[in-house]
Amino acid sequence: DYPDIATPVRTQAIMNQYGIATKKSLGQNFLTDLNILHNIVAAAELTDADNVVEIGPGIGALTEQLAKVAGKVLAFEIDDRLIPILADTLSPYDNITVLHKDILDVNLPATLTEQFGTGAPLKLVANLPYYITTPILMNVLKSGVAFDNIVVMMQKEVADRLSAKPGTKDYGSLSIVVQYRMNAEVAFIVPRTAFIPQPNVDSAIVKLTKREPLEVLPFDENSFFKFVKASFVHRRKSYWNNLTVYFGKDDATKEKIMEALAIANVDPKIRAEKLSLETFIELTNAFHEVGL
Ligand code: SAM
Repeated sequence: DYPDIATPVRTQAIMNQYGIATKKSLGQNFLTDLNILHNIVAAAELTDADNVVEIGPGIGALTEQLAKVAGKVLAFEIDDRLIPILADTLSPYDNITVLHKDILDVNLPATLTEQFGTGAPLKLVANLPYYITTPILMNVLKSGVAFDNIVVMMQKEVADRLSAKPGTKDYGSLSIVVQYRMNAEVAFIVPRTAFIPQPNVDSAIVKLTKREPLEVLPFDENSFFKFVKASFVHRRKSYWNNLTVYFGKDDATKEKIMEALAIANVDPKIRAEKLSLETFIELTNAFHEVGL
């Protein structure tokens, strides 16, 4: 058995041995708390039948714990300095592949088929670089890869927005766009003391799971996403106000807006944060129907 990477002493020793300092610009905060790592792995409900994708392995703290329980692990790391370090720290494991890639440039479906073949359950587990949490998640969700679950660490504030329900202050376009694809819940909070170096914010583990199929789908996904985003541009104003900013303020347009709201049964005086995901889909389709 090998000593775990994720302790403060070993992490510091690895960084000293290779003479590297963490890069803030790449969101490098390394986990040094084994307890937290075990809880992350438990949240992902991994078995040796699962293949796992990791984004940003760092020096391998999480990668190693994934490799101990999963079938195969595929990790994407952008920082060239970390590639030889990972080859060393992860050398005891024969089920890990590290690709030196920017995750935002990866064709995920093609790469996963190439690396894993098809058929085995797929999971994604990562301590995400915080500066690009949202673009990474959006890319992953839009890629069409059917992950059984996604367990990811991010800034607590972003985690709260992803998992927010209608009528709460954190509810907005991010909640809707994510929950359109998967169920989202905060699994647990991670204190900043669990990292080297410590970030300035607290973190949270979000667990995304497969959602029930929606009864009504948007006529076009991009129109739906654009419409949802526009609905929250002026949060303090009434929904009516946001809609006239997006569609137009002339009389003919206002009449069509009224018509679409009536089709979807939505009160123009309401605020966007009260509307459910299903209502946003109905509204998208209603505005399309009236020709807006
Ligand atoms: N998994 C390690 C851990 O938990 O200790 C490191 C997590 S650290 C928060 C984020 C990692 O993502 C860093 O290793 C960083 O270099 C990497 N990273 C940043 N941007 C990336 C990108 N665009 N594509 C792939 N990896 C990236």
